[in-house]
Amino acid sequence: MLKYLWAVAALSLLVSCQSQVEDVKETRLLLGTVVTFTVAGVPEDVALKAITQAVAAMQGVENRFTTHGDVLNTVKTFNQAAAGEAVQLDADVDTLLQQSITYWQQTQGAFDPTLGDLNRRWGFSGDVAPTQVLSKAEVKKGLARSGVDHIRRIAPRTWVKDKTGIQLDFGAIAKGLAIDKGIAKLQYLGVEHAIINAGGDMRILGDHSGHAWRIAIRHPRQDTALGWLDISADTSIVTSGDYERFFISQGKRYHHIINPKTGFPAVQSVSVTVQAPTAMQADALSTALFILGFEKGMGLVESMPDVEAIWVDSNMLIHMSSGIKSQFHLMQKNRDK
Ligand code: AMP
Ligand code: MG
Repeated sequence: MLKYLWAVAALSLLVSCQSQVEDVKETRLLLGTVVTFTVAGVPEDVALKAITQAVAAMQGVENRFTTHGDVLNTVKTFNQAAAGEAVQLDADVDTLLQQSITYWQQTQGAFDPTLGDLNRRWGFSGDVAPTQVLSKAEVKKGLARSGVDHIRRIAPRTWVKDKTGIQLDFGAIAKGLAIDKGIAKLQYLGVEHAIINAGGDMRILGDHSGHAWRIAIRHPRQDTALGWLDISADTSIVTSGDYERFFISQGKRYHHIINPKTGFPAVQSVSVTVQAPTAMQADALSTALFILGFEKGMGLVESMPDVEAIWVDSNMLIHMSSGIKSQFHLMQKNRDK
């Protein structure tokens, strides 16, 4: 519910940037969150048709990558396969897995697409929120069933694990890919100005009747904005935060972003917002940079062209990469913190 309220709040900040022509706005429940499509600059019927097709493309991504529900897909087939059993993955899954392994290499293993078993043990992706801290023994079991070193691509689209129990989980990157596919569909159907916002993770296209789109970044501890960015270019903004799925036990917060080195929720950050050319990149990097923290992550961000990041660290201090400092407008009341 909080997530939903936030999406509405973000939207009202977004629309406070007035346009001369009517935007077309549609909201759907998709990818486990509230997805808002805002399309500007085309007639309503064109916008609605494009949004319908974008929704279908995004639902397709969800179906191909989800590890939940009844839908059959090649991720589930791979996850259930025994050691040595070759599994032919869907082309998109194959591509995203290779991409994920590149992120694993670039982020010193912080981004790890093989944490499926451990994530399932923690239970943050399930229908019922967990309330109990996982025992060290369970964490150990989950970690033993993870590791990019235990999977191999033996032929085009064909993967094999060398250890039964290794499971893929694209929860940190597939939403970004879905947003990119939705935007590609809108573009294909003639839309040049739009935003797809999936629970605060978004890709932005063009501008808003000649003005920048105003994008609010959520405050990680309040249901208000931390600040905003004015954007009039094709770019993506994705946030990973410890407020999205969590529980508190004995005064300590446990959340869904797991440090593969410890098997426990990462403690270096409270939220990380990444700006990158695609939502897939921004999604993967926001998760990885959350785990790395700003001390280890800033160098990586500065080395990547067109990638910027804003951290809120565990002391609620804000750290920004060089290219976003002058672009990010902090809300007045957050300035002295
Ligand atoms: P995000 O909200 O994009 O930061 O992604 C978090 C989700 O990605 C979790 O719910 C898990 O499904 C998965 N995940 C958790 N920790 C990691 C990690 N270290 N690397 C990759 N995926 C992860
Ligand atoms: Mg992510």
